[in-house]
Amino acid sequence: MPEGHTIHRLAARHAELFAGDKVHAASPQGRFAEGAARLTGSVLESTEAYGKHLLHHYAGELTLHVHLGLYGKVTDGAGEPPEPVGQIRLRLASDGSRSRRGGRRAELESSVDRHWLDLRGPTACELLTPPEVAALRGRLGPDPLRADADPERAYARISRSPTPLAALLLDQSVVAGTGLIFVTEALFREALSPTMPGRQLTPAGWERLWADLVTLMRQAVDRGRIDTVRDAHLPEAMGRAARVDRHGGEVYVYRRPGAPCHVCATPVSRGALAGRNLYWCPTCQR
Ligand SMILES: [Zn+2]
Repeated sequence: MPEGHTIHRLAARHAELFAGDKVHAASPQGRFAEGAARLTGSVLESTEAYGKHLLHHYAGELTLHVHLGLYGKVTDGAGEPPEPVGQIRLRLASDGSRSRRGGRRAELESSVDRHWLDLRGPTACELLTPPEVAALRGRLGPDPLRADADPERAYARISRSPTPLAALLLDQSVVAGTGLIFVTEALFREALSPTMPGRQLTPAGWERLWADLVTLMRQAVDRGRIDTVRDAHLPEAMGRAARVDRHGGEVYVYRRPGAPCHVCATPVSRGALAGRNLYWCPTCQR
């Protein structure tokens, strides 16, 4: 499942492509036909990501909510959209109207300022009213990538809970946007055991862990992939081969079971927690 940085990148991209434009929406697959009809003709005012949720805010208090889930994908392009292929839940196309407002020269450029996007396979694609948007936000914990995030709200939950720390951090109502890669890697970097009960985490420990999540996730937004190893443990610094994995990026423990820890050479452990695979170094994260 995409982690929060992917959704924040999509929000920024969609604002760049569509904000200020009137959109035409369609649901070639048919499952969002009614919503698409309501969206058509609306002007996109802003976009935002909250955890793994993508929101498009349109004029007239209309919000499009998308959650990609495990299989959701978004593609986009410039100019005329191609012939629909596959199960497209939502197709958005801009009319280039924001350029036309800029006068004659802009009018000439408007043909290159038309964009489209296709959404396939999402878990959620729906229109929300302002109270429904508020309810969605209310269900989510603070998102390390958001300027308005309040980490104390998450710590209030963590510090009272006997649940393993990794499970708490994966619970979107505790922290939003964090998935298995950020969680396992931040716990490694802070030398915290993933199975430690949340209530054993000190306020100073939480402050460091939160700060590290913010650093790792912001970097992932910039790079478009998750890198978590410090300079001293990069392939070139250690004289080791770079990681080859479809997830990309250099990591310490995620999906490295049995491989030597980059810090202490102990084989990385793997275990199951709440139906997910966990990875940790039994020496560094004692
Ligand atoms: Zn280690």
